[in-house]
Amino acid sequence: MCRDASLECGACKCLLTIEPMTQLDLHRVFDLQYQASRAQVDVPLLVRRERLLRMQKLLDEHGPVLAAAVQADFGMRSPRLTEMVELFVLRNLLKHTLRHLARWSGRQRVRTPLMLMPGRGWIERQPLGVVGVISPWNYPVQLALGPAITALAAGNRVMLKPSELTPHTSAQLAALVGQFFAPEEFAVIEGDVSIATQFSGLHFDHLLFTGSTAVGRRVAQAAAAHLTPTTLELGGKSPCIISTDCDLKEAALKIAHGKLVNAGQTCIAPDYVLLPRGQEAEFAEAFRTAARRLFPRFAGNPDYAAILTKRHLARLRQMLRQAQGMGAHVEWMEDGGAGQESADTAWGDAVERQMAPALVFNATSQMQLMQEEIFGPILPVISYDRLDDVVSAINAGPRPLALYWFGRDEKVRDAVLSRTISGGVTVNDTLLHFAHENLPFGGVGDSGWGAYHSEQGFARLSHQKAVFVQSRWSGASMLYPPYGARFDRIMELMRRWL
Ligand code: NAD
Repeated sequence: MCRDASLECGACKCLLTIEPMTQLDLHRVFDLQYQASRAQVDVPLLVRRERLLRMQKLLDEHGPVLAAAVQADFGMRSPRLTEMVELFVLRNLLKHTLRHLARWSGRQRVRTPLMLMPGRGWIERQPLGVVGVISPWNYPVQLALGPAITALAAGNRVMLKPSELTPHTSAQLAALVGQFFAPEEFAVIEGDVSIATQFSGLHFDHLLFTGSTAVGRRVAQAAAAHLTPTTLELGGKSPCIISTDCDLKEAALKIAHGKLVNAGQTCIAPDYVLLPRGQEAEFAEAFRTAARRLFPRFAGNPDYAAILTKRHLARLRQMLRQAQGMGAHVEWMEDGGAGQESADTAWGDAVERQMAPALVFNATSQMQLMQEEIFGPILPVISYDRLDDVVSAINAGPRPLALYWFGRDEKVRDAVLSRTISGGVTVNDTLLHFAHENLPFGGVGDSGWGAYHSEQGFARLSHQKAVFVQSRWSGASMLYPPYGARFDRIMELMRRWL
């Protein structure tokens, strides 16, 4: 990794001069932010807005640098994809947040019950203080800055620990955030797992973690030591149910897109398909056609992302080997040899990490690929006879982050949605509930807890303080001791009001 200032990064031409923060820096930055958050509890709207505008400027001026850093980390990932799924999503979040900031951060009026009238109540949304954000590698800009934007909007100080597996992006984030924000406002702490462990042990006012379920468990344990509330955005196996009345070609195209964008390295990618028995050949053909339409070739195609590292690729290949060994039928979306011509180009070993997609039939629950989140371009297709079996199978496993339903009959759709629990749902497409700014995004059970995005995300990163203002005309003192006949009469009246 080109951390030495005398080295220029070959892929993105950046000079990475930022040294990783030491343990000392971690605690120093935390102390700075903690003191600042206690010294200025009320963070005026103007200050919050100005911080968001600075973030907007950072993205406007340095979006291409960030996209190049992501490309350098993956070896092969289209800057256009990064523009859409990282930078555009962030710009949209910023615009939405700026538009609603005044209303979200203002007093939230509530109705006052008759017995407390003529007093009145409201909810005061206040900054929590210092919010920690730990982010993963798969969408390394959006999943780092998205939670930070909401936390800043809510008036918090933010410390971000991005993934050590995307060092170019993390270094650029550290440099740019350092350039646009004072360390007591927003700071990036780079470092490996040991720094991440120390980071999650800080006495944050809230910790938002995005990553795997296994690490999420450790983060929740570390946060519990300080009673730090957490939002856990985790992973899991998101099922994609195909109904008998669905247009298979259209569904296959949308599933192929949801699965193959970023080569399946998406937390809400459809993990496996549940297909009415008998439609296997038709689905395989439709998926192959759809995949070919999206990516005429895989190896050497700059639109098709590489698997992040050889280690991640080896895990995916091992899963397929095991499934084949245990009797599954694997259908590769073969490459047509087009990758050969670019194997010796500037992409280096990234071409070798561009894994062609594979469909897997006859997968069983004993196979690793049906036990773990796949996180790659492998799509098991499980045949079913009755929809009830599908619902039971989903309910028997950990609660998924996303669920997809393809079909026309709204009654059947609603029956499936009401009988299953998942973090979110997209009907007749994939991924898109994430992009809807008025919907909260989060998991449930093993796929996480708490949600961000939308006003609910803003509320989660705020303290919602209940305020009741007593009126001078209040009759509450009539219920004070000493208790007697007057008390009984008033209580009787109040019981009738209920
Ligand atoms: P990961 O859990 O390995 O790492 C995530 C982050 O946690 C990294 O920054 C890492 O440095 C840090 N970390 C590692 N060990 C830690 C520890 N002991 N204490 C504190 N922090 C620690 O996840 P990953 O491999 O980077 O990302 C892939 C996973 O993230 C997948 O499971 C995917 O589904 C999930 N994910 C979820 C969402 C979502 O929104 N729900 C989004 C993207 C990815």
